[in-house]
Amino acid sequence: MIQKTFSIIKPDATARNLEGKILARIQDAGLNVVAMKKIRMTKEQAEGFYYVHKERPFFQSLIEFMTSGPVVCSVLEGENAIENYRAIMGATNPADAAEGTIRKEFAENIEANSVHGSDAPETAQYEINYFFNNLEITG
Ligand code: GDP
Ligand code: MG
Repeated sequence: MIQKTFSIIKPDATARNLEGKILARIQDAGLNVVAMKKIRMTKEQAEGFYYVHKERPFFQSLIEFMTSGPVVCSVLEGENAIENYRAIMGATNPADAAEGTIRKEFAENIEANSVHGSDAPETAQYEINYFFNNLEITG
């Protein structure tokens, strides 16, 4: 099943010029980049994106982190894209992430963990539409 998912290369990774290395892993996993942009998220944008976490104790810290520098937003397409990308990302906490995953190799800690990926079809649709309109999505 060909599917789309939404990815963010987070500020800790852009600060270390890791965009190319992370995108290479994404493409090597068979995922096609069908849309991409580098932005600096506003506080309001980040709060809306992460609204599901608004009651969590780390919410304010997460918003500060996500607005602390530029991010690369992209739409990825491929076979089982959502699950495939989550698998190559690795666990949220890099201490728990499997060898060979993006977070194991690049993440600094549970918050500054280098990448975001959608966790389900409904969230993927919400997240893609949050940052891209249909004219910006190729393929
Ligand atoms: P993900 O789907 O693996 O990205 O993880 P979640 O959806 O649970 O959390 C969203 C993001 O919030 C994570 O990617 C981290 O950047 C951050 N986060 C998650 N758990 C914690 C935590 O316990 N402490 C802090 N400071 N940040 C967290
Ligand atoms: Mg999540």
